Amino acid sequence: MIGHVSKAFFHTLAGSQTLKHLASRYGMRSARSFARRFIAGETIEEAIVAARAIESSGLTETLDFLGESVRTMAEADTATRAYLAMIDRIVAAGIGRNISLKLTQLGLTVDRATCVDNLRRILDRAGTHDFFVRVDMEDSPYTQVTLEVFETMWQQEYRNVGIVLQAYLRRSAADAARMNELGARVRLVKGAYQEPATVAYQRRAEVDAAFVEIMRLLLERGTYPAFATHDPDMIAATRTFASSRGISTDRFEFQMLYGIRRDLQSQLRNAGYRVRVYVPFGREWFPYFMRRLGERPANVGFVIRGLWQEERG
Ligand SMILES: Cc1cc2nc3c(=O)[nH]c(=O)nc-3n(C[C@H](O)[C@H](O)[C@H](O)COP(=O)(O)OP(=O)(O)OC[C@H]3O[C@@H](n4cnc5c(N)ncnc54)[C@H](O)[C@@H]3O)c2cc1C
Repeated sequence: MIGHVSKAFFHTLAGSQTLKHLASRYGMRSARSFARRFIAGETIEEAIVAARAIESSGLTETLDFLGESVRTMAEADTATRAYLAMIDRIVAAGIGRNISLKLTQLGLTVDRATCVDNLRRILDRAGTHDFFVRVDMEDSPYTQVTLEVFETMWQQEYRNVGIVLQAYLRRSAADAARMNELGARVRLVKGAYQEPATVAYQRRAEVDAAFVEIMRLLLERGTYPAFATHDPDMIAATRTFASSRGISTDRFEFQMLYGIRRDLQSQLRNAGYRVRVYVPFGREWFPYFMRRLGERPANVGFVIRGLWQEERG
C-alpha cells in the first residue's frame, strides 16, 4: 500500500516543470551530484567510461540514451540521430554492443509510421554492427502498440531486437507465451509505472507471483530471457527453477539498474551468472530518476543530503 501511494506521488511530481528545472540545475552538476547515483552522465563519453568500469568488473551493460514522450517529428528525428551516432561511438569505443530505447522517444505518440521508420533506421545500423536492441516497455496506454510495432519488425525479419514484459500487467503471461512462440527475446521486469487495477496487479504478492509464473514460462520455452530485478526473492526463485530444470547459466541473464544493488550484481557474477547493467545517460534524466525515487522512498534521503551539500559546497 505504501509502495502504491509513493509511486503515485512520485509519478505526479515527475510531471512538475518547476521540480524538473530545479533538479536539472543541481542533479548532475558535479561528479558528486545526487542524480549521478542512477545516471551515468549527460554525454555518451561519460556512459562509455561507466561501461568500461562495468566490463572491467566482469559484467556487461546496455546503454540507454534517456528520453521519452517527444512531442514533434523533429524531436523524434533528433533522438533517432542520437541513437545512430551512439551506435557509431560504441563501435569506435570497442565496448559491448547492446542498447535500450523507448518507442515514445522515437515518435510513437506523434505518428506511428514515423516511429516505425525511425526504429527501422536504428535496427538497420545496429544490424550492420551486430548490436542487440531492446525496446523498453512504457506505461499501459502503449503496451499493445509497442508489441504491435515489435511484431511488425519481427515479421520483417529483424532478429537483433527484443522486448520487455511487465509482470504487474494482467496480460503479460499471455504476451510471454506469444513471444515464446515467435522465438523473441524477452526482458522480464516487475513494472515501473503507476497503473490502474483494471490492467495491473496492485499487491506486491500478486506481482511477485506473476513474475515467478512468467519467469518459468520464459526459462522453459523462451529464447535467452533476461530477468531484470533487484529482488533477492525473485532472483532466488529464478536460480532454483533454472537449476531444477537443468537450464545452464549461459541460457539466460540477470539485469540490474546502474547504481542499484551493486553488491547483488557482484554476488551473482561470482556465482557464475551473467549480469547486465542498464546504463542510462543523457540530459533528459528527470522522469527516469523520479521512477527510481518512487520505487524506494528512502532514496529521497540521499537526494536531500546531496542538495544540502551542493548548497554548502
Ligand atoms: C535492467 C532493467 C530494465 C528495466 N526496464 C524496464 C522497462 O522497460 N519497463 C518498466 O516498466 N520497468 C523497467 N524496469 C524497472 C522495473 O520494472 C522495476 O520498477 C524495478 O526494477 C524495481 O523492481 P525490482 O524488481 O527490483 O523489485 P522491488 O521489489 O521493487 O525491489 C527489490 C529490492 O531492490 C532494491 N531496489 C529496487 N528499486 C530500487 C531503487 N530505485 N533504489 C534503490 N534500491 C532499489 C531494494 O533493495 C528493494 O528492496 C527495469 C529494471 C531493470 C533492472
